Amino acid sequence: MQISPLLLPEMIEAIDQTITANAEEVTALDQEIGDGDHVYNLQRGIDALKKQEEALSQLDWVDAWQKIGMTLMSKIGGASGSLYGTFFVTMSKAARDQQMDLSVFADALSEGVESIKKRGRADVGEKTMLDVLAPVAECLKQAAADNAALPELLNKINQVAEQGVESTRDMVATKGRASFLGERTKGHIDAGAKTAQLMIAAVVSVIEK
Ligand code: ADP
Ligand code: MG
Ligand code: MG
Repeated sequence: MQISPLLLPEMIEAIDQTITANAEEVTALDQEIGDGDHVYNLQRGIDALKKQEEALSQLDWVDAWQKIGMTLMSKIGGASGSLYGTFFVTMSKAARDQQMDLSVFADALSEGVESIKKRGRADVGEKTMLDVLAPVAECLKQAAADNAALPELLNKINQVAEQGVESTRDMVATKGRASFLGERTKGHIDAGAKTAQLMIAAVVSVIEK
């Protein structure tokens, strides 16, 4: 894959910008059915990654993902820290000793998603970040199998991620803090699904440039 970790600083900055720009909206979502700290949690992780971005850009993807995962695990409190931490560490393990290309990346992403399912004891349909991450991983696997062209793939990723966010609206949360509210979570988008989509769109926008 010609998409190099040299793009990591730009990706991290783009993620920082979109989370900051949408902070109020996302916090409101997490206040409705969670404890309102999701943006704060993510920003702790993003700030830590910003301090490492030059170092990260000099690594290969496998080492960069490992370092990102360890940083997120130690810097983010809340469910999202250990879930995203596990996600990146697992991606790193899955791609180790392989020649990076779309298919290796797609497989690593799928394994990362599986690790979130395991760690969170959750699956698609439970109103979490998985409702965005899992369909996006599936989309990449399909694209790798079909040898899809990059511009179309990036559009598709954005589309699938947005659909994933919207799909959480009518779900009843059965995992995380939102599950305490049960049926009352219906009608609200999940904050973690929303930020997953925003971060994916940020990464896509850097690759599109
Ligand atoms: P906390 O819920 O501990 O305050 P955050 O607010 O940072 O942590 O993150 C909440 C988000 O994490 C939720 O919106 C949801 O998307 C995701 N989440 C919570 N629990 C799980 C789980 N068991 N599996 C997958 N994702 C989860
Ligand atoms: Mg929270
Ligand atoms: Mg919390």
